[in-house]
Amino acid sequence: MSQLIDPFNRQITYLRVSVTDHCNYRCHYCRDEDHQTHTRRSEVLSFEETAKIVRLFAELGVTKVRLTGGEPLLRKDILDLTKMLGQIPGLTDIPLSTNAHLLPGTASQLKEHGINRLNISLDTLDPQRHKDITRGGDLSTVIKGIDKAIEVGMSPIKLNMVVMKGINEDELEAMVEFAIGRGLDIRFIETMPIGLAGIESVDRHYSEAQILSRIQKQYGNKLVTKTPKQTDGPAKALLIKGTNTHIATISAVSNHFCGACNRVRLTAKGDLILCLGQEDSVSLRDAIRSTMTDNEIKDLIRDAITKKPEKHVFSSVIDNISNRQMVELGG
Ligand code: SAM
Repeated sequence: MSQLIDPFNRQITYLRVSVTDHCNYRCHYCRDEDHQTHTRRSEVLSFEETAKIVRLFAELGVTKVRLTGGEPLLRKDILDLTKMLGQIPGLTDIPLSTNAHLLPGTASQLKEHGINRLNISLDTLDPQRHKDITRGGDLSTVIKGIDKAIEVGMSPIKLNMVVMKGINEDELEAMVEFAIGRGLDIRFIETMPIGLAGIESVDRHYSEAQILSRIQKQYGNKLVTKTPKQTDGPAKALLIKGTNTHIATISAVSNHFCGACNRVRLTAKGDLILCLGQEDSVSLRDAIRSTMTDNEIKDLIRDAITKKPEKHVFSSVIDNISNRQMVELGG
């Protein structure tokens, strides 16, 4: 049982770790057009520092750590970190989120280092749209990356599609067929108003209800509701009968799933973020670079968890989250 229990009786068992705030893509809902990453190397946690913080969380009961970014595969020697994390007692699950651009050259080694579960961002199957949405990405490389991950036996692989009205909402069914064809899961994500880029995407919001009605129309009696596993997170899953594909939606705006929130986030600079939709944070980098003992840092983490808000406030206090960038928060 986790020792990290917040005032709303939620046990924190999941830490999302952003290993870099650099990204090779500039998705327009994630990052402002003119946003630059100027983070100095010394500001970013070293792998030893990251592994130490993760170990302290694991000692407090965290069992799942997701590596994210920015683009985590841009971090040189990321495999050294996965190896260190793999040795931490108590961690049972270390998935990774990626845009798949660098997967063709890294999937085999990631698999050898114990990374089995991947979430891959893929918003479209149209090469020009992909280039536009990501501001310069290359769909054929991404698909090669997905196929390489399948070939080396990574599983489950979940595709994450951010659905946007007038941009890619017409591809919902095609994306499901793509997932079915490759035996992958797919999750449809509502745009979240985080940072200026996210706030500007509000007009393109396409709701969970609209998504589900389309899926229902297309797959109707082939859909089976699936009992969520702990690894499913906030997504509600439907299995398409006769396939290995689960469909889920992440509807942070239409629905609060905050009641079941079990996660906190660590940025590349070592800030502990208690809620995606609020601005509170605590610098764990300052703590581990100080003379504090492990026990004192664990007390700091416990204390931070007592400040985790009951729910995010995406819909009402937009100013509160306007100066955050999703690319820095890790999604
Ligand atoms: N580079 C990796 C990737 O592409 O998955 C990890 C980082 S990315 C910030 C993590 C996730 O956040 C992606 O699935 C992305 O689509 C999602 N994301 C970013 N901005 C978002 C927004 N405004 N609303 C909803 N999802 C967003």
